[in-house]
Amino acid sequence: ATMPPLLSAIANAGRHGVLVKSAVAMERLGEIDVAALDKTGTLTEGTPEVTAVRPLPGSGLDEDELLALAAAAEHPSEHPLARAVVAAAGLRGLRVPAAEEFAATPGRGVRATVEGCVVTVGRPRSYGEAADADGTTVLVERDGVPVGTVTLTDRLRQDAPVAVTALATATGRAPVLLTGDNPATAARMAAETGITDVRAGLLPEDKVDAVRELQRGEGKVLFVGDGVNDAPALAAAHAGVAMGRAGSDLALETADAVVVRDELTAIPAVVRLSRAARRLVV
Ligand code: ADP
Ligand code: MG
Repeated sequence: ATMPPLLSAIANAGRHGVLVKSAVAMERLGEIDVAALDKTGTLTEGTPEVTAVRPLPGSGLDEDELLALAAAAEHPSEHPLARAVVAAAGLRGLRVPAAEEFAATPGRGVRATVEGCVVTVGRPRSYGEAADADGTTVLVERDGVPVGTVTLTDRLRQDAPVAVTALATATGRAPVLLTGDNPATAARMAAETGITDVRAGLLPEDKVDAVRELQRGEGKVLFVGDGVNDAPALAAAHAGVAMGRAGSDLALETADAVVVRDELTAIPAVVRLSRAARRLVV
């Protein structure tokens, strides 16, 4: 027997390293009018590195003490920034104290009790434009008092510019970047991949609003993301694709398809496969 076209397309998508969850999902991937991409872990590799540790004067902390404090609060978190902070503390051979009462807020940061103090690590209250261009700076506070910052940088995926061009060709419109990170870093990463429509500083619910606005203005949206913070936008979009390697369980569960081989260019390839299959169906 010959396989129905959408099932053959799912098998072909598998050869490109993309797990498409159903025939309906396969169909939706070909119906999109515009792609919206998350930055951290999607456009970038998602393995950031700590490039600066800056205690605030008056905090009484040196660099190592600040990093150990941040690592303690980040230790239970699966966020790429958290893993990088913990790894940096490990590389410096620091003793990281235990954290209690850990809580994470997607798109904002973490909070935990460390040695009797409430420590938060997360998005600064405002962004200082020029200072941000070289990376993502997170603020560390102890009992509500800022004690320093940690700056992290993440590399663009090598195939990001090619994938962005292919998505633009496939949909007829350049992809949009939706990120919780600061505007300066978002703009630099976008410029390096050929994206001009950049929306930064977004909370998870702002990503949903952006997806809905695009769906009203431009048509059906494909959202690509990896984090817990991306799950609501993956659900709101006409089609959702999660990056599998570092993707959070919630993102993988919510998406219509998962990129298991870590290549962004597989996404436009699967959009084309879906379109070819739909031509055979109708
Ligand atoms: P993106 O949209 O780029 O994937 P997120 O929504 O995950 O980013 O995070 C947005 C911002 O929130 C980060 O740039 C950072 O300032 C802050 N943040 C989120 N999670 C953490 C964390 N675990 N540690 C420190 N900062 C965090
Ligand atoms: Mg992300």
